[in-house]
Amino acid sequence: MEKLWSKLSSRVNEELNASTDITVTVRGTLSMLMQNINPEDQRPVLSLSHGDPGAFSCFRTSHTAEQAVVDALRSAKFNCYAPFVGILPARRAVADYLSRDLPYKLSPDDVYITSGCAQAMEVIVRVVASPGANILLPRPGFPNYEALCAFSHLEIRHYDLLPDNNWEVDLEAVKELADENTVAVLVVNPGSPCGNVFSYEHLKKIAETAKELGILVVADEVYGHLTFGSNPFVPMGVFASIVPVITLGSISKRWAVTGWRIGWIVTCDPTGTLQQSKIAEYIKAYLNIISDPVTFIQGALLDILEKTEADFFSKSISLLRETSEILCDRIQEIPCLNCPTKPEGAVFIMVELDVSVLKGIDDDMDFCIKLAKEESVIVLPGVTVGLKNWLRISFSVDAIPLEDGIERIKVFCQRHAK
Ligand SMILES: *Cc1c(COP(=O)(O)O)cnc(C)c1O
Repeated sequence: MEKLWSKLSSRVNEELNASTDITVTVRGTLSMLMQNINPEDQRPVLSLSHGDPGAFSCFRTSHTAEQAVVDALRSAKFNCYAPFVGILPARRAVADYLSRDLPYKLSPDDVYITSGCAQAMEVIVRVVASPGANILLPRPGFPNYEALCAFSHLEIRHYDLLPDNNWEVDLEAVKELADENTVAVLVVNPGSPCGNVFSYEHLKKIAETAKELGILVVADEVYGHLTFGSNPFVPMGVFASIVPVITLGSISKRWAVTGWRIGWIVTCDPTGTLQQSKIAEYIKAYLNIISDPVTFIQGALLDILEKTEADFFSKSISLLRETSEILCDRIQEIPCLNCPTKPEGAVFIMVELDVSVLKGIDDDMDFCIKLAKEESVIVLPGVTVGLKNWLRISFSVDAIPLEDGIERIKVFCQRHAK
């Protein structure tokens, strides 16, 4: 047993180390940072590391969404198992919701309901993984993809997002990385962790590049519609006539209900290529063996997607615009930190750290550990998301703790300035 265990764990570790320099997960790093908090410090711990609007009262979800869940629960119609692909009204609701932004109409058969976007990610990684296959992932990125690929023995190849180019995809790198074993390229838009939003033209170029390479586009659009800059949100599915697109999403971020665990996989397939490729069959086969999202939340989905007032959305967008501006403006006051582009969406920015002007700080990890110790502030070292000597900072935080946190970071940097 001992022998078997060590064989299994070393295989996963090998995969993680061989395919990526990310050897730590976000949660692992954050709990390590929390252990560095000084218990003598009387001030509250300020966490600017989480992208969880559901944790703050200012982002509280709409009354309509809460009422939809109450109604679904009380109807007693949703106490049983759901079909493994999701209940039909929920599938139809997602198809209609996403079709609003597409030049064609999705059918409920294109939609698979999952336990949040996280499970949608898991299913897709499982489905495309096969011996020898590889997938192209963005750097910086969302490290759960790396971990999922490692567990599925799917080789990872990283392409860069370019900070001086509004975090656009390095398309030349994508072309060089791909070979005959490449199955897909992942695109996260609106971007996590960079807060960028791709333009229509750039998305089209990504689709054309994928077509040229003969690979699938997997579009993580969990932050869909959470945009507040000059580029509007354009779903990748708009370009599905160029290349097959599988869209992943959820209500977690737009509705600030990360705990409700409802998301989707959608095959955007106006030309029928995906249906022919058997991928739909594999998705169903895998969904058949894993746990379904709670049935009464599925029962509430139609009302959540259709009836939520425009007011709720505009309020959360203006909050995010406001907190992102506070964050960017105040960061620029700190000489060792630089935010190359203003965020236009999602909930994080990437901030470049110049350790050469600091004394006694080796790198981003060291910065974050000492910041936790001395100031009780938690921010994520960039190395965790693939970029050494950067920091990932969240602005889906109440404005007051956000301002306090930045003030403490400023004091910390002054104390350590050369
Ligand atoms: C939060 C997040 C997810 C997971 O979303 P859930 O719906 O909460 O499972 C997936 N991808 C990215 C990029 C995220 O930030």
